[in-house]
Amino acid sequence: MPRQNHYFSCLLTNKNSFMKGFKRTITCILIIAVLSTCNCVFARNKDSLLVNNIVKEATENSQLKNMAHELLDLIGPRLTGSPEMQQANEWAVATYKNWGITARNEKWGEWRGWDRGVSHIDLIYPRVKSLEGMQLAFSPATGGKTITAEVIILPDVTDSVAFQQWLPNAKGKFVLISMNQPTGRPDYNWQEFATKESFERMKKERTVQIEAWRKRISKTGYTTRTLPAALEKAGAAGIVTSNWSQGFGVNKIFSAYTKKVPAVDIALEDYGLLYRLTESGRKPRISVRTDSKETGLVPTFNTIAEIRGTEKPDEYVILSAHFDSWDGASGATDNGTGTFTMMEAMRILKKVYPNPKRTILVGHWGSEEQGLNGSRAFVEDHPEIVKNIQAVFNQDNGTGRVANISGQGFLNAYDFISRWLYTVPDSIKTTIATTFPGTPGGGGSDYASFLAAGAPAFSLSSLSWSYGTYTWHTNRDTYDKIVFDDLRSNVILTAVLAYMASEDPATTSREKMVLPVNPRTGEPGKWPVQRKATRKGGLD
Ligand SMILES: [Zn+2]
Repeated sequence: MPRQNHYFSCLLTNKNSFMKGFKRTITCILIIAVLSTCNCVFARNKDSLLVNNIVKEATENSQLKNMAHELLDLIGPRLTGSPEMQQANEWAVATYKNWGITARNEKWGEWRGWDRGVSHIDLIYPRVKSLEGMQLAFSPATGGKTITAEVIILPDVTDSVAFQQWLPNAKGKFVLISMNQPTGRPDYNWQEFATKESFERMKKERTVQIEAWRKRISKTGYTTRTLPAALEKAGAAGIVTSNWSQGFGVNKIFSAYTKKVPAVDIALEDYGLLYRLTESGRKPRISVRTDSKETGLVPTFNTIAEIRGTEKPDEYVILSAHFDSWDGASGATDNGTGTFTMMEAMRILKKVYPNPKRTILVGHWGSEEQGLNGSRAFVEDHPEIVKNIQAVFNQDNGTGRVANISGQGFLNAYDFISRWLYTVPDSIKTTIATTFPGTPGGGGSDYASFLAAGAPAFSLSSLSWSYGTYTWHTNRDTYDKIVFDDLRSNVILTAVLAYMASEDPATTSREKMVLPVNPRTGEPGKWPVQRKATRKGGLD
């Protein structure tokens, strides 16, 4: 503003004579040039000084490993409704308070409470071997007892009538209901070593087998979701599945669908062993003990922390990462890594930028895994914040360096995101591909909850590091999979973006692009709509 006023006052006093005016104009332009250079240099110097401080703190005093040890090793996974989830909420608040950052746990709903406890699964006949497996989340317990029973395979019946007739045979048996994989080697391993012919043959046979198993399930008249309950009703001792994640040693661990008998997932290798023993008529027997506990309806929280803005405290820059996880392992990359990135960015900002222009708020959302519930609830509960959001930065796809940022369909995202990224150190920003205006994300992680309410929300999207196969919802999502160098890079990126978004003289534009016509339906593209949070969940 001062520069502009000076320019206008120059022009107004320029009437006397052409030459005098001309000289004045030149002087004016020079002054303007000098002033703007000064201002610009001053701003750039201020920015680069701050960025240097961020890099220095992130490098020399990193708390990432401490946090990972405390959360992943000590507390463990954070299944919605579990006691660990609440311990994690309390840990995060205590950690923030320790750094002098205001933090609170905000209740947004209630969930079925469940405490995992131990799972023991052993082969006891025709030989003894401890099996690698665990009960699925929310599986019933075996009532303090070890249940020993014969294993059978879901039969290939002609139709649902035949299946009803067969059902009494399930009584007192553990029923294997997953397909037996033809190979425990991932395709990339076959690609590397198999002959072309044998790789092709394996894939062809597997495709046929997958289709046959799909039919075997559907002919029962049930789905993979409803079949366990039918077997349970028929008196089965338990349900055995193997949800292979197509890599060495990885299974995905989700929820059980039984109410009284245990539902366990067994590693591909041991599942194959049981399957072959059953098929060859050896009548294998296993013993299972699950000690889980139902803990009733428990409250669910988002952990919120903030550094209040000094000039525009009612405008918000939001750092975002879900806090809950599945519980086959410790949720290290889904989403421990996003969590640590945001916590570490907050810690550093508090230290090197304690008086931000706008409020910097971090949200560690609950129950993302069951449908973005924590963040949707926050958006519903805080319209006053949502309408004043400068930007949301969410990270939730693993441990890798951020490689992609999309404008999410905001017409002017190019302008502000590019400007903010400009200040990020070269070594970090040069490998980030940006897409503008991009298309709005309809789900997948919590930024979508904000986007659906029209707020400029972005996903800091990472390199994969085999996320989908090896860590996402698997039994191998553990501390050792974290690549701390990449995390540190993401911390610096996030802290710099938060700083730039906070300092920006302009409020970000929320203008949306007109979405292209859907080629399939011929209908105009629609912006994602806000969806309601499930506030009472896990009950059925
Ligand atoms: Zn996630």
